[in-house]
Amino acid sequence: MDEATGIALNLLTNADCRKAVTGNAKGDPSSLLGFLTDAEAFDFNESNSAIASTPNPFDIATSNISLHPDFFEASPESRQYFTPAGKVRQLGSGAQGRALTILHELRHIYKNGNHPVGNRFPFDNELLKGCFGIDAGYPKGFGPSSTNIGTRRQ
Ligand SMILES: [Zn+2]
Repeated sequence: MDEATGIALNLLTNADCRKAVTGNAKGDPSSLLGFLTDAEAFDFNESNSAIASTPNPFDIATSNISLHPDFFEASPESRQYFTPAGKVRQLGSGAQGRALTILHELRHIYKNGNHPVGNRFPFDNELLKGCFGIDAGYPKGFGPSSTNIGTRRQ
């Protein structure tokens, strides 16, 4: 958990990453940094319906990120992404995958757009580009507006 948070904090020092998360590259990252280092920012939810989730409506001042059991397991899904040609790849470590999940949930909290239910890739692909410098694409069956259910980062 701390390793993943540390990776996310480090990535957020990059303006491209802040823009991918908040929609505003010039935004002060201190509220994000403060949120992630606040012991109250995360809670555990035993539901297996997602890797992580945030309540709706989201509010940076009061919302928590809920972490589900799969967040803590080294499941391939938690760190995988797809090349523009649709080939599967994975981030170098489980902690990097967890950092991507944290950034994904933060983007929800910042209300920086939304993605179709069950299709995390529109968010993940912009975060992979802005935060990790990775050009990512969509797996077969998941276009930018697809609502296929099959991925559980919500
Ligand atoms: Zn999501």
